[in-house]
Amino acid sequence: MSARILVVDDLEANRRLLEAKLTAEYYDVLMAQRGEEAVQLAKREKPDLILLDVMMPGGIDGYEACRRLKAQPETRHIPVIILTTLDDRTEKLRGLQAGAEEFLTKPIDDVQLMARVKSLLALKVVIDELRAREANGRRLGVIGEELRPDPLDQHRVVTGNVLVVDDSPNQIRRIQTALGLEHRVFVLGDSDAAPGPPDLAVVAVTAKSFDGFRVIARMRSGGPTRHLPILAVVEPDDHKRALRALELGAHDIIVRPIDEDEIVARARTLMRRKRYIDTLRARLDQGIELAITDQLTNLYNRRFLDAQLGPLVQRAQCGGEPVSLMTIDIDHFKRCNDTYGHDVGDAVLREFAVRLATNVRPSDFACRLGGEEFVVLLPRTTGDIACLAAERLRRHISSAPFTVRGAPHPIEVTISIGVSCTEGPDDTPEALMKRADEALYEAKRSGRNRVVGRTRGRAP
Ligand code: GH3
Ligand code: MG
Ligand code: MG
Repeated sequence: MSARILVVDDLEANRRLLEAKLTAEYYDVLMAQRGEEAVQLAKREKPDLILLDVMMPGGIDGYEACRRLKAQPETRHIPVIILTTLDDRTEKLRGLQAGAEEFLTKPIDDVQLMARVKSLLALKVVIDELRAREANGRRLGVIGEELRPDPLDQHRVVTGNVLVVDDSPNQIRRIQTALGLEHRVFVLGDSDAAPGPPDLAVVAVTAKSFDGFRVIARMRSGGPTRHLPILAVVEPDDHKRALRALELGAHDIIVRPIDEDEIVARARTLMRRKRYIDTLRARLDQGIELAITDQLTNLYNRRFLDAQLGPLVQRAQCGGEPVSLMTIDIDHFKRCNDTYGHDVGDAVLREFAVRLATNVRPSDFACRLGGEEFVVLLPRTTGDIACLAAERLRRHISSAPFTVRGAPHPIEVTISIGVSCTEGPDDTPEALMKRADEALYEAKRSGRNRVVGRTRGRAP
């Protein structure tokens, strides 16, 4: 997978070295010498990953640059790896607390660097895909303007459920003490304590009584844990096993003995990103829901009908079961509007939609095409059965007048229905719709409040 990586270092030699390493792996490299420049460049160029040096004399340092990148809405989803020669605990914590995803010390171990780059980029691809779809949804007006509250906002505390998979009581206690302040921590096997599905798993690859790699692999392979962030606990200097954990799908690594402040910082970053992805997904689902729903009645809309009809008709033609269609039109609806006003008209449409939705089978799709025109799509249904269903619906509507808000008395409503069913190998969605429309027209012409079937000549 190719990607664009921004390298930020004040020393030309360092930049060149990293550039050479990264281009050898077929990444595109952008470069900046100073922190301020990096923040601007990142905003403009939207790289996929940023490698950031700490000490850059004559301007802001790497920590500050990282904080600014994570504060900027345009760049805060871009993963940052801080690279430095300052190898001590305080420095590492400063980096992680500035919001960096990882902190590596120079001289950089190539294998370790590439493994982190790869795993962060893999996650970035998921986020980019969701962001792109979200932007599309916003353009189409089916997703609201702003992501709020934004889980990537560093000022927000993001709390979640942390599942610990470990067999060392001491280490478990340490993790619980560290993460218990912000999150709800529970241990695998203690299902009573589970506060809900986990948002983060801490998996000890160091465990003696089980194979931590297998746990990671199984979590990744499917089911609800597929997108769960995993923080793997490894022995210090055991690079091989750390790499293995990343390859298997762990998102982050921490070494033993676990530094409490470090695990807090890493958990925060992982939890934020998980929430961000969850929020994007939820917004997309909501957007899709909105895109296929008629706003007045909450029935499906025409877009949904069109999308369903093609594949269903095609399947029917390929020897599958027949598909039937009802087109429904309220009789003399204009009179209802003229007599009681548009708002009462709307209320009648809503009440009609409720009766419609509750009188079709769960496998049928009730749609509003607009105005007082409705369609019911009946998969796996013959024309005869569809005509019976239509007749039942017609009676149900005409048998009890509509009591709606704003109307001085219950309103009599009747409907006319045209029914069609797939026939022959050359049928098309358009032809199916047309036959139902013709049948509806026939029903109107012959007196309204009736069902006409165009189903190979068989009418009820
Ligand atoms: P017919 O029996 O031939 O179907 O007569 P009709 O009056 O129902 O048909 P026509 O197509 O002449 O009128 C439909 C009316 O539906 C016209 C329009 O004012 C009304 N209408 C369309 N959309 C809406 C809506 O969203 N809300 C309300 N209240 N009325 C609507
Ligand atoms: Mg420097
Ligand atoms: Mg009408």
